[in-house]
Amino acid sequence: MEDSVRDQIRGFLASKGLRKTVQRDAIIEAAFSTDKHYSADELIAMSRSVEKSVSRATVYRTLAILVESGLLRELELGKGRKVYDPNFLDHPHHNHLICLDCQIILEFEDINMELLENCMAKRMGFTPANKQVRIEAHCDELRLLGVCRRSGHKAAAEA
Ligand SMILES: [Zn+2]
Ligand SMILES: [Zn+2]
Repeated sequence: MEDSVRDQIRGFLASKGLRKTVQRDAIIEAAFSTDKHYSADELIAMSRSVEKSVSRATVYRTLAILVESGLLRELELGKGRKVYDPNFLDHPHHNHLICLDCQIILEFEDINMELLENCMAKRMGFTPANKQVRIEAHCDELRLLGVCRRSGHKAAAEA
């Protein structure tokens, strides 16, 4: 984790009157030491590998604080599945492709998309505050080859 990120988080926690604890520090360390998207359960496991005493309740509370601060984003995957995304600090304009077959999430970014989104919003009389494009898609590799190299998923055997 970069010091600038650590400073931003510290600043936010201090502004909320939250004191520094070993558990909260471990969760924050785990939350921003990866560029993968993770579920709350995965964050619990990651935090416990930093500090064994981390409780489930503290992870949920800290997640809510980090999402509220805007440092971490919550991504809804449908069917009640949620993951958390630590990559907006380094890549504030990235978008997601979510594979409906393999459940993988890919990130993409393109300056032309930025321009297009700004134009669209302006044309409708708005100034964009938060832009995100989400593509839900089916995996071509799984369909054509019967197996996806990215996820390791295999197509269900046909009846
Ligand atoms: Zn992301
Ligand atoms: Zn796939």
